[in-house]
Amino acid sequence: MGPPDAILGITEAYKRDTNPKKVNLGAGAYRDDQGKPFVLPSVREAERQIVEAKLDKEYAGIVGLTDFTDAAAKLAFGENSEVVKSKRNATVQAISGTGALRVGAEVLSKWFQPNKVIYQPIPTWGNHIPIFKFAGLDVKQYRYYDKNTCGFDEKGCLDDILKIPEKSIILLHACAHNPTGVDPTPEQWAKISDAVKKRNLYVFFDMAYQGFASGDINRDAQAVRYFVENGHNVCLAQSFAKNMGLYGERVGAYTIVCKDPEEASRVMSQVKILIRPMISNPPIHGARIATKILNDPKLRAQWLVDVKGMADRIISMRSQLKDLLKKEGSTRNWNHITDQIGMFCFSGISPEQVDRLAKDYSIYLTRDGRISIAGISSKNVGYLAKSLHEVTK
Ligand code: PMP
Repeated sequence: MGPPDAILGITEAYKRDTNPKKVNLGAGAYRDDQGKPFVLPSVREAERQIVEAKLDKEYAGIVGLTDFTDAAAKLAFGENSEVVKSKRNATVQAISGTGALRVGAEVLSKWFQPNKVIYQPIPTWGNHIPIFKFAGLDVKQYRYYDKNTCGFDEKGCLDDILKIPEKSIILLHACAHNPTGVDPTPEQWAKISDAVKKRNLYVFFDMAYQGFASGDINRDAQAVRYFVENGHNVCLAQSFAKNMGLYGERVGAYTIVCKDPEEASRVMSQVKILIRPMISNPPIHGARIATKILNDPKLRAQWLVDVKGMADRIISMRSQLKDLLKKEGSTRNWNHITDQIGMFCFSGISPEQVDRLAKDYSIYLTRDGRISIAGISSKNVGYLAKSLHEVTK
């Protein structure tokens, strides 16, 4: 018997708890202010139109729906992106962000020379480590998070990057870093880009939260676009789980930016060879929804409102939590709650304090102190602030 998944374990404990005040801050899925899963109005409408069109259920190609991959690449790199215009992107559809990371890991495991090592931030999303290890790469780490400030460890990060052996791979979270919610500023991204260039590293961007972080799809893609404009031919995993709420539909894309269209078509042929025995070809329904939303001006406009609504609710929960902690009389510095961005807040509380929250207050989160802001609502934010203050006094 293997160990249970840490996050799923929290959900189980939460389900068993009979306290009516219980709160689940473990799961990384958006909830509305009533604590309910949220299907975006743009998604409902796109789905309605797709069902009405009575499309067939034939297989997609090995690399998925090309209308989808074209739209996904444009969303990431920008409508007027030189990469997309000159067709030097090899983009394939993937089983959401995880599948995109896994395809990328397989590609690099087979083809990347000379160091089959990927450097990941400390900490990183728990699944990043096995995704790359199971594909046969070595996983090493670089400093990213500063426990003292609950912010970005600029010096540690740059020092570590400058020590990475040349021609290794580096994993960067494009925005809304999971689990810390800490993103570099544009100036810090520029320094990271320079350091990465100095060491001649290959950049693997994971963008699981485009639009969901700030509410603005272009702003959240800034780091990826900046790196590309600065001459890094990166690869990129995209997920539509969060920004379209398509979690279980498993919609994602993986792109390798190449030097020219000829290289892109050679790369594409090799990626196909790897995908065929993994999944044969990806599912069509979710990708049709995403394509419709991205390509239909009316639905796209609605979607932009939907994403902004989710991001704004998260941002507002952050400031309410911070204000209420102060009102409770907490003298701790909680500025990081609003400085951090995206679904998660790395609260800085200890594993023992996390245990007390669960035991005494029926509030559940991972032992690293990560709070899923999506689990906070106007109904429970007061109770959370009170309990958090009690355990951190
Ligand atoms: N990368 C990061 C950083 C994530 O937080 C997640 C979702 N938790 C993913 C990738 C992938 O999620 P999915 O496979 O559901 O798209």
